[in-house]
Amino acid sequence: MPKTRNSLFSAGTVAAALFACGLAGCATGLKYEIPTQPEGESASISKPGWATHTSAVAAANPLAADAGRQVLRAGGSAIDAAIAVQMVLTLVEPQSSGIGGGAFLMHFDGKTTQAFDGREVAPAKATPSLFLNAEGKPMAFIDAVVGGRSVGVPGAVAMLALAHQQHGKLPWSALFLPAITLAEQGFAVSPRMAGLLANEANLKNDPVAANYFYDQQGKPWPVGHHLRNPELAEVLRDIAKLGPDALHKGELAKAIVQKVQKHPSNPGSLSESDLAAYRPLIREPLCFDYAAPVSGTATAATSASSRVYRLCGMPPPSSGALAIGQILGLLQHTPAASQKLVSGQPNADWLHLYTEAARLAFADRAQFVADPQFVAAPGGNWHSMLRSGYLAERAKAIDIAGKSMNSAKPGNPGAQSLSYAPMPDQMEYGTSHISVVDAYGNALAMTTTIEDGWGARMMVNRGAGLAGGFLLNNQLTDFSFAPTGSDGQPIANRVEPGKRPRSSMSPTLVFDKATQQFVLSAGSPGGALIIHYTAKTLYGILNWGLNSQDAINLPNFGSNNGPTLLEAKRFDAATVTSLTDRGHKITEMPMPSGLQAIERTSTGFFGGADPRREGVVLGD
Ligand code: GLU
Repeated sequence: MPKTRNSLFSAGTVAAALFACGLAGCATGLKYEIPTQPEGESASISKPGWATHTSAVAAANPLAADAGRQVLRAGGSAIDAAIAVQMVLTLVEPQSSGIGGGAFLMHFDGKTTQAFDGREVAPAKATPSLFLNAEGKPMAFIDAVVGGRSVGVPGAVAMLALAHQQHGKLPWSALFLPAITLAEQGFAVSPRMAGLLANEANLKNDPVAANYFYDQQGKPWPVGHHLRNPELAEVLRDIAKLGPDALHKGELAKAIVQKVQKHPSNPGSLSESDLAAYRPLIREPLCFDYAAPVSGTATAATSASSRVYRLCGMPPPSSGALAIGQILGLLQHTPAASQKLVSGQPNADWLHLYTEAARLAFADRAQFVADPQFVAAPGGNWHSMLRSGYLAERAKAIDIAGKSMNSAKPGNPGAQSLSYAPMPDQMEYGTSHISVVDAYGNALAMTTTIEDGWGARMMVNRGAGLAGGFLLNNQLTDFSFAPTGSDGQPIANRVEPGKRPRSSMSPTLVFDKATQQFVLSAGSPGGALIIHYTAKTLYGILNWGLNSQDAINLPNFGSNNGPTLLEAKRFDAATVTSLTDRGHKITEMPMPSGLQAIERTSTGFFGGADPRREGVVLGD
C-alpha cells in the first residue's frame, strides 16, 4: 500500500514519551510514539494479510492498531490493547464507534471464555411508542436517528473497565496515552472519514460538530487534514484518572444529558440517573459445536475427516451468534459441505443453500430475539434455537435442487411465555471490529458501535472553550420502531425502559473442540449484514481452508429473509442467472463489510483486514 510520510508527526514522539511518565508513571513501560500516518486510498485496498509470531492487533484504522501494538509491546494484555484501540478509534474513526457508544467483547484468557456486554440501555422514561410519529406510524429512520431521542446510555467504557479489572496488566490510566496524545497533537483525517463526512447531511446542524468537522465555510475537512481534538483529550484524561465514573457522573454526565434533552427539534429523555445506573454485564457466552471437513476434503460434516470446532459468540441481546449458529447448523443438514469454491467464488448451488438457511435464521431472529432481561428464550433456553433436531426439521423447508422460498416464517423451537409478532426488517449501519491476541495466551473479539454512521449527529462538549468532543450513539433505533405487529401482538424487541436493543454484532472466538486451543477471532461492522459477513469469513476459513485474508476478500452475500443480496460487481453473470432461474430475487449492492480476523497458525498468527475499509493487522 503506497504511503505518504507525514512529517508533522516526528516532533510528537518526544512529547508523547514525556507525557507517558506524567500521565501514568514511567513504571508502566508505555512510552507512546506517534507513528507516521498513512494517507491514501479508501475504497478497495488490496491487503496482503499479516503473519506474526507472538501477538497481533487487528483494527479498522492503522493508528488504532498501532496503539494496541505499542500497548502489547509495553507488556500489556489483549484487553489493555483493546482499550487503547477503542480510545484511538473514538478520535480517528469517530463515525463508527467511541466512548459515546456501546460494545460487545468476547474474551478468552487461555482457559475461560466470557461475553462482556457493554450494550446501551434505554432511558427510564423511554416508552414503546418512542419511534412512532403523530399519526402513530413508525418514524422515518433518519428522523428517529438525528437528535436526542435515539440516544441510549453509553456502555463501552464501563464494559472495558470491567474487563480491565479482570484481565488488565497495565494501569487503566496508561491505556489512554495514545488517544490523548493523538487528540492533542492531531491526526490526519483518513480517506474513509473524509469520504463519509463529504456525504453526510445532518452532522453540520450540530454546532459543536460543525465547528470540529468543517471549515469556516462549512466545507468538511478533506483527506489528510490535520485535526486536533483538545476537548476529547481532556475528557479522556478524566476517564483515565477516574474511570467510567467520569462519563457516568458529574460534569460530563451533565453535558451529555443537556445535549440530549435540549436538542432543538428531537430531544430525548436520557437523564443523569440513567447514566449513573448503567451496569455492564458478563454473560454466559453462546457456544456451539461446528464440524467442518478437514481442509482439502469435502465430506459430510460428521465423518472421520472432519474437525470439530467450538464457536463462541455474544448471546442476546445480540442476535449475531444465534443467527450464525443457525445458518451454519442448517447448512449441516444440506449438501453444502460438498460445494467447493469455483474460481475463488461461492457457486450458485452453495449460495442458494446459504441464503435459504439465512432466510430461516432471520425469520427466527425477527420473532424471538431481544434483551433476555425482558424476553424469555423459546423453551427457556436460547440453545433451543440451535438444537440439531430443530434445525434438521427447519432445513426441510430448503428445496435443495429447486426454487427459493423467498421468505421464511419463524419456526417453533420452544414455547415462550408470551407470544410475539415478528419485527419488520430495519436499517442498521456504522460500527468497528477489533481482534487481539497477546503473548500471554489471551484472545479477544470486540465489536463496537455508535450505530449509524456519525451516530445521533450530536457531539458532546463540556463548554470549557476547547474544540471537539465525542459523538453520541443512536443505538435506540436498533429497537423495533413498531411496538406491535399487525395482529396487535407485542414485538419482542420493542422499546422498554431499561432494556438493551437487539444487536447483530457478532464478535466470535473459535476453538478446537478437542484441544480447546484458540483457533480464530473474527467480526465485522455492517448492521444486520454483520451476520453474513462474519458467517462468510468463518465458513471460508473453517470449510474452504482459506486464510483469514482470503476469506475476508471473498465477495459478500446474504439474505435478511427478503431478496438475495449480492455484493455489486463481484459475481459473474452465470451465477446471477442461475440464482434468478431458481426464483431468487436478486439485489446487487455495495456490501462494505469491515471484517477483521486473526487465526492461529503453526508459526504464530495470521491476520486479515477488510480491503473494503482501512483496517490493518499489526503485531510482533
Ligand atoms: N447497531 C448495530 C448493531 O448493534 C450495528 C450497526 C452496524 O454495524 O452498522 O447490531
